[in-house]
Amino acid sequence: MRMKRKVLIVLAAAAAMMLQVLPVSAEEAGVQAPSQEPFLTTYTVQQGDSLSAIADKMYGDRSAWKKLYKLNKDTIRDPHLIYAGQVLKLKAYRDIAFDHTWDYAGNAAITDGMARLYRSDVKLRKNKTICINAGHGTEGGADVKTLCHPDGSPKLVTGTTAAGATYATAISKGVMMATGEPEASATLRAAFFVKDELLKAGYDVLMIRESDDVQLDNIARTLIADHYADAHIALHYDSTTNDKGVFFCSVPDSESYRNMEPVSSWWQLHDMLGRCLIMGLEGEGLSKWKNGELEMDLTQTSYSTIPSVDLEIGDTVSDRSDAVLSSVARGIRAGLDLFFA
Ligand SMILES: [Zn+2]
Repeated sequence: MRMKRKVLIVLAAAAAMMLQVLPVSAEEAGVQAPSQEPFLTTYTVQQGDSLSAIADKMYGDRSAWKKLYKLNKDTIRDPHLIYAGQVLKLKAYRDIAFDHTWDYAGNAAITDGMARLYRSDVKLRKNKTICINAGHGTEGGADVKTLCHPDGSPKLVTGTTAAGATYATAISKGVMMATGEPEASATLRAAFFVKDELLKAGYDVLMIRESDDVQLDNIARTLIADHYADAHIALHYDSTTNDKGVFFCSVPDSESYRNMEPVSSWWQLHDMLGRCLIMGLEGEGLSKWKNGELEMDLTQTSYSTIPSVDLEIGDTVSDRSDAVLSSVARGIRAGLDLFFA
């Protein structure tokens, strides 16, 4: 414990130094606050329901009945006594659709899916929304192409799509994990750990997807994050097979790319966020690959108007036990705490 605290102090000092050289903070640059519409919804009690059964049905967690009770104390006198037809308030999310009037919206090709925005219900809320984007998971996305860069310039670094191309796969299938599990399912499992950790810490969370298939390509996901979140973290596993460690995709050191909007206004904050996340993950004992950065001009980076990174939380053979995913989630939370400190 003592050791951990020491590491965190060092990390915080390092982050503070980095923050001093930044040209703009997220707030100064006009990050859009998420809409203030209510996050409550209602549920009508069915014959045979109990609070724990409703909590299980709505949140996948029977023990959440206490929260449900707390939220409805004005109408429930005894948590064991609820009746069919009774209307309960439920926390605390709303579904977010793609908006075709947004800047660059015309560049997205797969836009029908809905993301889900969760509001933290802890006392000390951070008033920051973090987009957690579980990489891949869009049926048919690999057969569609979208413009790599908003200005139509060619891609610089070879990733799923080769350098020189102006159009890239709208969203790729992802790699196959050594266990035979698709990357999309592995990233989704990790995303749920991160979501829980962030909500517990007072962050609001925008989940791009919570099922195997959401019809949102990389541009659509990025624009939704741009308009509803303060930071965007895409979770991925790298294709290598040597448990290479965590890293993030940093913004390529190319004058033309760094001069192109919106990259030009945001690239320092993208890299800053990435470095904070890697520090947080190291603080949780995860090993990093080289210096924790790999230059890539991703579609996500090219369209982001909030701090935004692609975070590779391991590769095809990395340990994905609950214990490791909990560490990943805590590391990401610590990294965000540093970034917004
Ligand atoms: Zn991936």
